[in-house]
Amino acid sequence: MMNAAEKIEALREELNRYNYEYHTLDEPSVSDYEYDMKMRELIDLEEANPELQAPDSPSQRVGGAPLEGFQKVQHDIPMLSLGNAFDEQELRDFDRRVRGGVDDEDVSYVCELKIDGLAVSLKYEDGLFVRGATRGDGTTGEDITTNLRTIRSIPLRLNKPETIEVRGEAFMPKKSFVALNEAREAKEEEPFANPRNAAAGSLRQLDPKIAAKRNLDIFLYAVGQWENDPTDSHSERLEQIQELGLKTNPEWKRCKDIDEVIEYVSGWVERRPDLDYEIDGIVIKVDRTDQQETLGFTAKSPRWATAYKFPAEEVVTKLQDIELSVGRTGVVTPTAILEPVKVAGTTVGRASLHNEDLIRERDIRIGDTVVIKKAGDIIPEVVRVLEDQRSGEEEPYHMPEVCPECESKLVRLEEEVALRCINPNCPAQLREGLIHFVSRNAMDIEGLGEKVIAQLFQEELIHNIADLYKLEREELLELDRMGEKSVQNLLNAIEASKENSLERLLFGLGVRYVGTKAASTLAQHFEEIDALVEADAETLESIPEIGEKMADSIARYFDKPQVVELIAELKELGLNMTYKGAKTSEGPADSPFKDKTIVLTGKMENFTRGGAKKIVQDLGGNVTGSVSKKTDLLIAGADAGSKYTKAQDLGIEIWDEEQFKQALPE
Ligand SMILES: [Zn+2]
Repeated sequence: MMNAAEKIEALREELNRYNYEYHTLDEPSVSDYEYDMKMRELIDLEEANPELQAPDSPSQRVGGAPLEGFQKVQHDIPMLSLGNAFDEQELRDFDRRVRGGVDDEDVSYVCELKIDGLAVSLKYEDGLFVRGATRGDGTTGEDITTNLRTIRSIPLRLNKPETIEVRGEAFMPKKSFVALNEAREAKEEEPFANPRNAAAGSLRQLDPKIAAKRNLDIFLYAVGQWENDPTDSHSERLEQIQELGLKTNPEWKRCKDIDEVIEYVSGWVERRPDLDYEIDGIVIKVDRTDQQETLGFTAKSPRWATAYKFPAEEVVTKLQDIELSVGRTGVVTPTAILEPVKVAGTTVGRASLHNEDLIRERDIRIGDTVVIKKAGDIIPEVVRVLEDQRSGEEEPYHMPEVCPECESKLVRLEEEVALRCINPNCPAQLREGLIHFVSRNAMDIEGLGEKVIAQLFQEELIHNIADLYKLEREELLELDRMGEKSVQNLLNAIEASKENSLERLLFGLGVRYVGTKAASTLAQHFEEIDALVEADAETLESIPEIGEKMADSIARYFDKPQVVELIAELKELGLNMTYKGAKTSEGPADSPFKDKTIVLTGKMENFTRGGAKKIVQDLGGNVTGSVSKKTDLLIAGADAGSKYTKAQDLGIEIWDEEQFKQALPE
């Protein structure tokens, strides 16, 4: 038996490895659920054995108790801002000043992407992360150590016991930003304007648990202080801090002169939209440390660096109309219909106006000439109206008083900015609900696009979700552009969806606040729907990940007689109501992995771990991270360790890479 200290040590090691696989290799070997369970185990053990707590334990990443406020932090070396350059000429002027300053024609530069996030300082003592702070005004920042610990790409311990203060930019990747705003809108919370605000807002949360959920990332790009600094150029520093385990941006480049710098800059003006994080410019630094020292500082900024700022990507177009749409929760959203125009790489024809308040605030009228941009380079937004372009014909816009679809009176719920149609039989809500039900992350029924669904409602072939499973071949053939083949495919897809694991159905039902992750948690916890239907709010809230608001919403949803009726009807129609494990697809019927629980271990010659995992999942297998009695098969590559021994002990079937390869279809 392992004692608590050994068990804790083993868990820490395992979790650190999972972190590394996930955040650095991008090849997770365990599901999020398993990760969470291991983390819980570690936290429980540490709480039971407080003397074994450690500042570099991975448990420090989940966020501790909320803070009263942030402590002020004095930066030992001020965090200065950079001078700016806005065009090629200004870059050449900068180069001329630098060469004159060092009295040397031979100056090389390092170019780096200027990440649009929040500048922070990280302090390590003997390799241990001891303090993280915001830049603040450059001299005094705020201690946000607990929030920074939640960023999984920040090492809590360096690879070497160095004492160093590094600086970098904490940011929110575009994908996380879009997902966060979608979730906020679903909860009727104000969306963040851009990824920078979202990152800053997350790191300035007094409750570190919130920051932990925000999927922030970081790039380190500078050294403030370094005891025994072994480098003599900026490029070497970047290489060295990366070796310490600190994450640097891979796109930096050493340029031998200003012409190469200008080439780098113009290349990124083009490629900028392809990045999965926002940048707002390029930072150019003199590479050699001795030259930097000679150049020194002005009162505000170093003379050896400058920031090239990208021009703002704002374009002007006409606002032709404002359309209203009714979502599945009844919220009525106005959308601007724009004269199509190209912004940041794509053509934009629509932009959400969110709600009436925003239209009034920005005084947006139909016919206006408007400035648009993409928030976070992704979401089109009407920034402002060019009032001097008005002809006088433009009319202020008023939201209607009734639902554009069912004409019931719209209401504004207390403390909400959104207008809502509260008619439970509103066809728009039912239609949107069905679009959600068949969507990829829900029941994943292919061939049921929005147009087909609109027709099904129009022809009154469908009134609710259950009707979908009663559709007949002849009825479908009557619809526009539905031939024999597409009808058959659709019926097959509908039939196949009956076998989906419970979490898809749960997500598809569209219970308020329940996203894919919560649906998955609920399905794994209750395993079958009746147990969930019977659960009260208190039981639901006792599940990790399920908060009070969600628990309440779920309990109320399953209390409704029409929901109970709907579930019964779906059951009658043959829909699966049980959890079948975390499969991504069913796979072919003769697959050797179908419905089997499989563990992968060791190194394979021909497959990456992530690749092999995907193959097994595509063939209908469940891949889990640890060997247990429930494991059906262990696939072991070279240097397999404890999992191999455990599988042997439990008498579980073990394959080597060759057997795995043989078992795969052509
Ligand atoms: Zn309505």
